Amino acid sequence: MSDPDINSITTLEELDFDLVGTLVTPNDAGWDAARTVWNLAADQRPVAVVFAEDAADISAVVRFATETDVRVTAQSTGHLAMAVGDLSDTILIRTSNLDTIALDERARTVRVGAGATWGLVSAMLAPAGLVALAGSSPDVGVVGYTLGGGCSWLSRSRGLASSAVTAVEMVLASGDTVRATANEHPDLFWAVRGGGGSFGIVTALEFSVFPLTDIYAGMLLFPVDRAREVLDEYAAWTDRLDNRATTCARILRFRPLPEVPELLRGQSFVGVDGAIDAPDSEAEALLKPLRAMVASIDTFSRIPAASLAEIHMDPTFPVPAIGDGISITTLDTAVVDALLDSAAGDPAGALLVVDIHHLGGALGVADPAGGALTHLAGNFVVYSAGVVPSAEAATVVAGAVASVREALRPWAAAWTYSNFRETTAEPDEMWDAATLEQLRAIKFALDPNNTIRGAHPLETEPASPGATA
Ligand SMILES: Cc1cc2nc3c(=O)[nH]c(=O)nc-3n(C[C@H](O)[C@H](O)[C@H](O)COP(=O)(O)OP(=O)(O)OC[C@H]3O[C@@H](n4cnc5c(N)ncnc54)[C@H](O)[C@@H]3O)c2cc1C
Repeated sequence: MSDPDINSITTLEELDFDLVGTLVTPNDAGWDAARTVWNLAADQRPVAVVFAEDAADISAVVRFATETDVRVTAQSTGHLAMAVGDLSDTILIRTSNLDTIALDERARTVRVGAGATWGLVSAMLAPAGLVALAGSSPDVGVVGYTLGGGCSWLSRSRGLASSAVTAVEMVLASGDTVRATANEHPDLFWAVRGGGGSFGIVTALEFSVFPLTDIYAGMLLFPVDRAREVLDEYAAWTDRLDNRATTCARILRFRPLPEVPELLRGQSFVGVDGAIDAPDSEAEALLKPLRAMVASIDTFSRIPAASLAEIHMDPTFPVPAIGDGISITTLDTAVVDALLDSAAGDPAGALLVVDIHHLGGALGVADPAGGALTHLAGNFVVYSAGVVPSAEAATVVAGAVASVREALRPWAAAWTYSNFRETTAEPDEMWDAATLEQLRAIKFALDPNNTIRGAHPLETEPASPGATA
């Protein structure tokens, strides 16, 4: 498509004329469906929604936005939609139709469109005996996850997904399309790998993949009244843990709903899940201290690498949820006390999950080849969330989520991993001062009018309606 004549574009209808994809406005019958994303609690009300079909569509929207002084943001799935805030001055580009995936088996790289999800990528890689540094949920979008850093079940040995990126194709605020690599637009290439979605609208991403056909992985679940014992043991265990093990301790409260497996329905557990990229005998030796506590359910075994997307039991369908996270430096007795008082204590039982993701290993060491996020601060990131089918539930869950963050604040790491911040957060809570300064300089040079907005802006912006902390 040739560049639109932006001087003649004054209305959304004229923009529509230039698109291969679909533009939906509040006057259209499909408006509610268009603005509804994975997190059903996000009541998004943008100026319009564009389902882009190609990079030229995105370019047309960005040029239109610049000309008419509105802003643009992109979502593939909307898993982070609760962080985005007020969209009344913003056109939302949905990239879900840009879901092509091409594997270069010889180079061990994959090129994905901005709408690809991890489930699709993992399924394509499995027959070739390859894996990507995918997140725990098959439903999460590759681009949003990777722009924020990306923690996989291989993170403690292989580092952040953003460090595996080899090229980013994107539309800048000028409307121009660029390809950023270590050699072309190196500043931009640095910024997007961990700096979020503020620098342009990504149309495609290329990244390295790794040979792995199977892995020792699963979960151990114990009755929730053993939370103190299990979390204390987990703290001691992770203190000396081999980097080949990437795990998460959790408190889970399953609702008595038909979609929950019968074995778990209506019950509460404390547990540990994760993956150990080691031969069976070594993985079993590593797990011994946790298995010595004798779990009620133990699914750890050798599984196909593609099944890593199942062990965390993330919902694979849209849900209304409120969640938020905080990175912390330690999981010592005082932290476990504070956590249990706020989370396991949770009198209303509002929290479906409290996850304590173990960091460190390759995640804790600055990767010189990485981007804006070379590593994660802290030794754990605690993420809690609940389902909010009603406004009343939203108030209760938001309160419980905020109270977990508040209880852990004395042990907060220097900054928190942005992908687990699902409410409006100050930028200096997610990047260190030097990184933030560099990110802001790159952003200002590329987008002085702040046309492109990410979920987590680099400058302080008004709080989102869903903000809890
Ligand atoms: C159930 C669940 C499981 C999760 N598991 C993990 C996990 O294992 N590891 C982990 O690290 N994180 C995990 N997360 C967090 C997840 O990485 C973030 O929510 C991530 O932002 C989701 O990306 P998305 O594209 O699916 O979401 P979206 O909401 O669609 O996008 C998130 C943000 O990314 C940016 N963005 C998306 N597409 C583009 C684009 N084309 N151009 C420019 N910017 C763009 C925008 O700023 C957007 O607001 C999980 C979240 C949930 C809800």
